[in-house]
Amino acid sequence: MAKDELFLELQSVDEFIRRPGVEALAADHGSAPVTTAARDVIARLREGVASELLDKATLRLALDGLTGAIESHLRQALCYSLRPVINATGVILHTNLGRAPLSEAAQAHICETAAGFSNLELDIETGARGQRDTHVDRLFRSLLREAVSHERRSAKPQPVSTIVVNNNAAAVLLTLNTLAESGEVIVSRGELVEIGGSFRVPDVMAKSAATLREVGTTNRTRIADYEHAINERTRMLLRVHRSNFEITGFTEQPSTAELVALAREHGLPFVEDLGSGALLDLQNFGISGEPSVLDSLRAGVDLVTYSGDKLLGGPQAGIISGRTDLVARLRANSLFRALRVDKLTYAALEATLLAYVKRDPDAIPTLKMMRLTTKEIGKRAAAIAAHARSAKLEIEIVDGESVIGGGAAPSSVLPTQLLALSCSDLSAEQLAARLRASDPPIISRIEQGKVLLDLRTVFAEQDSIVKTALTTLGQEG
Ligand SMILES: *Cc1c(COP(=O)(O)O)cnc(C)c1O
Repeated sequence: MAKDELFLELQSVDEFIRRPGVEALAADHGSAPVTTAARDVIARLREGVASELLDKATLRLALDGLTGAIESHLRQALCYSLRPVINATGVILHTNLGRAPLSEAAQAHICETAAGFSNLELDIETGARGQRDTHVDRLFRSLLREAVSHERRSAKPQPVSTIVVNNNAAAVLLTLNTLAESGEVIVSRGELVEIGGSFRVPDVMAKSAATLREVGTTNRTRIADYEHAINERTRMLLRVHRSNFEITGFTEQPSTAELVALAREHGLPFVEDLGSGALLDLQNFGISGEPSVLDSLRAGVDLVTYSGDKLLGGPQAGIISGRTDLVARLRANSLFRALRVDKLTYAALEATLLAYVKRDPDAIPTLKMMRLTTKEIGKRAAAIAAHARSAKLEIEIVDGESVIGGGAAPSSVLPTQLLALSCSDLSAEQLAARLRASDPPIISRIEQGKVLLDLRTVFAEQDSIVKTALTTLGQEG
């Protein structure tokens, strides 16, 4: 009986919407979203009454605060779920944080391309239909030109062609399906990798309708293992870069040159999934052991696949570079149509590649972050610590390591200096949660009970935000 009485108080949504406070909200945000929010809030109150969580007094209280409840519900409903965060983890290519941040030129080119029409598939000179890949193919040609000269000079030199798909997983899928459907692909057992986000070589192989032919063992595979596995059903040899782990100790794998020679002898394409695919020699950036696209092509690899948003520092994309005749086959596969990328990706990629053509690596945020010195980072950290440390919030500057991430150069670490935080009345987890709750959220890492902030991955313009957030934290209860 009492319940029915309470339900009566909640009867008409219309009535609530006509309250002055709610009407003011509707004037600001439009009446449709306000009505929806009011309905949701009232429905929640009805549930409270039904489950006897609300009695008469608490319901009255809730109804008095109805305008505020509708407003906060509305704010949540109308704000973006995807929003910027500050990456203080020191992991440069963090898949959970969107991998590579884009250059200013890429951002600007995305904006102008997004805002209107473009010549995406139009040849402006002739007025005829064009191909969307031409916008980046010319830049790849220029960047990979040197690949043609060396090894291939004796044979008839072929220019290098490139096409772009949604991501590297798609690039591998398209390559396998085009070159090896219903046939066999030979891969070393030491390279049957899983990359984060459930890219597993055997699974992609199965989806491509090619059959995986495993050879060798986890730690040792010889060229003879590949040779013995070749039969009339073999369509290609595949090497997969072990992006996110290393095999050390008693190991062996054939050189690229041996695999190239074997593939040629049998007239088979040799494809390499490079994963990250550096377009520059990264030795100068303190990173070793990361194969470059150019090195592979020069060595005679027929096709290489790599990501756009890993070491290249561009948008999410899968890039396939190599023999023009094979790339033409990939383009002719109807799967290519399903995996193609949109104009915004081409815009971002074109701008990123232009920075490489201009030899201006500092324009690309990921490359710039890699090149920051410990001294520069330490200086910024000290400035923040001096301002933000308090009786409650202890801040030390300690030596540490940044990592490349994104499944690139797993053993390469970059020396850095970290802000190590500890708070008298919060655990490390609680402190990290507080930092995530600031606006914009600050993402840290925890090691040995300390919250660590690495400014290598924080844009210098964001230092003041970090400083303010830490100062506030040190003053709060
Ligand atoms: C990262 C990676 C992939 C997947 O690339 P996405 O662009 O994330 O799809 C595939 N293979 C290797 C070796 C990788 O490192």
